Amino acid sequence: MIELDNNATTRPDPEVVEAMIECLTTLWHNPSSIHRAGQAVRRKVELARQSVAALLGVKPGEIIFTSGATESINIAVRGLLAAAPPHRRTIITTPIEHEAVRDLCTGLESTFGVTVRKLPITHEGIVDTAPLEDPSFFDDSVALVTLQWANNETGAIHPVERIGAICRERSIPLHVDAAQWVGRMPANLAALPIDLLSLSAHKFHGPKGAGALFVRQGVRMFPLLAGSQERGRRGGTENTQGIIGLGVAAQRAMNWLADPAERNRIAALRDRFENALLAAVPGAAVNGPLHPDLRLWNTSNIGFPKLEADALLLLLSERGVNASAGAACGSGSLEASPVLVAMGVPESRAHGSVRFSLSRDSTDNDIDRALQIIPACVAKLQGSSAAALV
Ligand code: PLP
Repeated sequence: MIELDNNATTRPDPEVVEAMIECLTTLWHNPSSIHRAGQAVRRKVELARQSVAALLGVKPGEIIFTSGATESINIAVRGLLAAAPPHRRTIITTPIEHEAVRDLCTGLESTFGVTVRKLPITHEGIVDTAPLEDPSFFDDSVALVTLQWANNETGAIHPVERIGAICRERSIPLHVDAAQWVGRMPANLAALPIDLLSLSAHKFHGPKGAGALFVRQGVRMFPLLAGSQERGRRGGTENTQGIIGLGVAAQRAMNWLADPAERNRIAALRDRFENALLAAVPGAAVNGPLHPDLRLWNTSNIGFPKLEADALLLLLSERGVNASAGAACGSGSLEASPVLVAMGVPESRAHGSVRFSLSRDSTDNDIDRALQIIPACVAKLQGSSAAALV
């Protein structure tokens, strides 16, 4: 199988798997137990916390382990709202968030009387910070700003440093959904004005159902899940195998990130893939920014004319290529992706848009094989004579 769906999830690293198996077979005790066996697991959990903190350039005490980015986002947004004064009930966000943020904001709007204000998006799918620069934008009702660091569908990178600086000036907390960023790009939070940040282990070769929330020391918030674990900030017996897997994934990601040539190597593969596809399929276009500084090295979202993305995904899957349309969980719905709609992508192209996402494991051979398969599948669905090649 050619794995071009790495924004949905990535293959677990063998060292992650090994550490998790050890946890399930030997180090399976409760880390809250006072006996030696429990304390051995506690030490592993704390080592994992140190690894995640090192990956983010923060203190271990600022890391809360969770079940993934969705839970981290919920703890951050609900916890900040709960701790904010009652007149602060406005959330500032964007129209292109992952549904973990989008649906949370919609739910809070309909059930808790929260107001949600969305920043404009450029045609490249990048947040336009102009309204934020206007001091009157942050009136007395604003409780927090929440936005993604990089978009899961297009790979577009947002100016979180500038947004964070503005939030700092106005003393408004900034939460960043970094599920697509952490482990793929350096994230030195010691030098960045980000107050809270969510991540998911399975986006960087760790296990599914494990993640973390960074909460900068001094940020006031209420816990969502009461209980003594995680220093009272997230109750419930720890998912020790997931946490230990996340810790190893963080160490492996740090090693990988140390050499920028590795990211450039995959970006070059992505560019070769994209250029060849655009040359082979008349009318195909990239959705999202083209400048390398404005996009993740691994994501290519391509709109194909005269076809439905779901049909292409099924055909590709039969031919050995895994890819997705919109957010992975959005596949199967006939709605055009809200991200592409917000960017102003014409509806006909949005319906035929597919996300191909590489990982640090992607190879030249993967790209060569994918390029033999994809244009022929597109042609088959468009009903052209090139279909005979499939
Ligand atoms: N945020 C972004 C940008 C994502 O891409 C995802 C997952 O695809 C999430 C949040 C949710 O992550 P999880 O399903 O691991 O909780």
